[in-house]
Order: sequence, then structure tokens, then C-alpha cells
Amino acid sequence: MLLDYDVGVLEAIKRVYGELYKAFLGSISRPGSRIYARVNVLRTGVGEVIDSLRARGIAVYQDEELEEAVYFPVEGPFNIEMHGYDKVIVADKYAAESVYLGSDLYIPGIVRCPNTIRRGDEVVIATEHGLPIAKGVAMINCRDSRSLRKGIAVEVVKSVYRAPKIVELPEYRAGFIYPQSLAAMYAVRALSPRPGDLVVDTCAAPGGKTGHIVEYSMGRALVIAFDHSKKRLEVMKGELERLKHSPFVELWRADSRYLHIDFSWIRADRVVVDPPCTSLGVRPKLYDVKRYSDILSASRYQIQFLRSASKILKVGGVMVYSTCTITIEENENVVEKVVEDDRCLKVVDTEIKRGSRGVSTPHSYAYTRFHPHIHDTTGYFIAKLTKVC
Ligand code: SAH
Repeated sequence: MLLDYDVGVLEAIKRVYGELYKAFLGSISRPGSRIYARVNVLRTGVGEVIDSLRARGIAVYQDEELEEAVYFPVEGPFNIEMHGYDKVIVADKYAAESVYLGSDLYIPGIVRCPNTIRRGDEVVIATEHGLPIAKGVAMINCRDSRSLRKGIAVEVVKSVYRAPKIVELPEYRAGFIYPQSLAAMYAVRALSPRPGDLVVDTCAAPGGKTGHIVEYSMGRALVIAFDHSKKRLEVMKGELERLKHSPFVELWRADSRYLHIDFSWIRADRVVVDPPCTSLGVRPKLYDVKRYSDILSASRYQIQFLRSASKILKVGGVMVYSTCTITIEENENVVEKVVEDDRCLKVVDTEIKRGSRGVSTPHSYAYTRFHPHIHDTTGYFIAKLTKVC
């Protein structure tokens, strides 16, 4: 594990976890004991998905509380040794984090592939910091790797952790499942969009929450989804098509800090604000670099999203704010600041029975937090607000 966090970041973590901060740091360097997917209940049943996976020998279970959630147990850790004579292919951070869980290494994820490695060779896959994460068989001659654009570079035989590769399952390709953390699914549960609602997702790509909103409302809500990133919107479009959700969602490219100006006509029943954050709760992390200034700039940005979102929310409407990070600066303090300045916005209880409550702020009793080292989930925060005037 290589977590390059400055003193300010470590102190922000300690403000939440005190002496347990080391347990927290340890937990984010590992995957949880389960990986989750959401069943697209608009297209299939949870029982059908479980039966078809089990028929192929895949261990899968329905979550104890969220009926649309299924999980796959994660096995490991297994020991991956590296010797001086081993042939080593280096993977980038993104690729390494899935290889760590047993996925094959694909050509775009290669950082270094020595020319001496040939198709059929046994190789070790390592991170850019030299940590061995898997063993496998090279499917390419490294000499050719620069001219190739896609395809499998290494078929993984043994990795530190092992879990089914969700995106390679036929159920995924058919649009029956969507990989999503359990904690993230609770955000849309807290939102509880109803049939007939106008629902706005302000930071939507790649569409995890948007898809859940469509399914939860059984395709009977009108969903308007915004995102600023052209590339991520392209991915989201593909995801909506795969899930067959496209007819239920209007997708717009916009800067959601200014929705109240650029889309001032919107009066939404439900709004989700799931903004960029420092992602400290995302796991597993093989390495990460964060500075306290990242936390402060994220929180300034998050306040802007919430302020704009509150202006397009109907009186009586519900807004959910969620992040996959754990700092008070980006969570409780953002919400507290926004409600302090807007007397028409009120914090209400998320009414989520799982996880813990918030930390050390006036409305801490109303928030939900998931702690990775305690709840065996992603580190996550959910707040629910309503507009009263
Ligand atoms: N809600 C998504 C994840 C969102 S991550 C899901 O559940 O799948 C945060 C998103 O905010 C990113 O897609 C990023 O492109 C987007 N974003 C960043 N700045 C933005 C801005 N100014 N306006 C709108 N979207 C923005």
C-alpha cells in the first residue's frame, strides 16, 4: 500500500476516526469481502439472475436487506511472490486495481512491457511502484505492444484477490446487472423517487445513480441527467443503451454549478447531487496521492453544486447529497454550510438502517455514513434534504 497523504489529509482522517485511522487506511488498501452489483429489475428478476449465474458455478447471493442488490464473495489474499529472474509487466493504476481482483490485463493498461517478453511466457504483473499483484501468461509479444490498441495482454492465473469479473459476464452484456457498491445504492433508496416524479441527477456520469433511479421508479419517472465531461457522457450513453434505459433519461452536457441559471425552468421533485470528491472511501487502492488542498477545493465545488441544485428543487421536494469520501470537510460541513445559508432547506433523516450516523455536527443524527473498516463497504456519506419554502 502506498498512500501518499499529507499531514492535512491524515489529520482530516483522524478527525473522523481518531486512533482507528490506521484501521481505516488498512481497509481502503484491500477490497471488501463482497463485490456488489445491482439487478436491472426493469428487465429481469433477481432470482433469474442468481439462478443463471449459479448454473455456471458462480457463487452469488442476494443482499440481506436491499432486494435489488446481489453480491459475489471476494477470495484472498493470496501470496504473489516476485523473484529477480521473473518477467515483469507493469500496469497503470486503473488496470492494476482490477488485476488485483483477478481481471486479465488489457493492452491499454500497460505501462511497461520489456521487449524480451513473448507470447506464452509466464509473467508477473506489478504496479508502477513495483508491487506484484498477479501472475499470468502473456498473450502478446511485448515488442508488438505499442502497435496494438486493444485486447488481452496477460491472462491472469493467480492474483492477490479473486472475484468474478462482472463486466465479462453474459448477464452484464445483456444489461441485467450493473456493478455498484452497496453504499451507493442506498443513496437512491434515500431519494425514493416515485412514479411521475421529475428527477434530476446533477453529476450523473457514468450513470450508476441514474440507472438505479430508472429502475426504482420502474421507468415511470422522468429523469434529467447532467454531467460536464464529454468523455464520461459518452460512456454513460453506452451504459444507458446496454441497460435499455435510454427512453427514460434525458442526457445533457452542462456545468451543474449553474443549473439554476442555464436550466432555470426546471422544478424537480427529486434531485441527486453526487459530486466529484477526494474518493478516500473507494477501495481497493494500490496507491493514491492526496493533499489537504484537494479536500478544500472539492468542498468549495460541492457547496456550489448543492446551492444550484436547491434552486431547481420544488417546495416539498427531496434532495440527496452523497460522496464516496470520508472527510467532514466534504460531507457534514458542506451540508451544514448550505442549510445555514438557506432557511428553506432542511436536513431530514436518511432513514437508512444500515451504516452509522454522521460525525460531530448539529445534524449528525440525520446523516448516514458507511465506514470501510467497520461495515465492510466503500467509505460513503449520504445526506437527505427537503425544501420547505
Ligand atoms: N453519480 C455518478 C458518479 C459521479 S462522479 C454515478 O453514480 O455513477 C462525479 C461526476 O461529476 C463526474 O462524472 C464528473 O464528470 C462530474 N462533474 C465534475 N464537475 C462537474 C460540473 N461542473 N458539472 C457537472 N458535472 C460535473
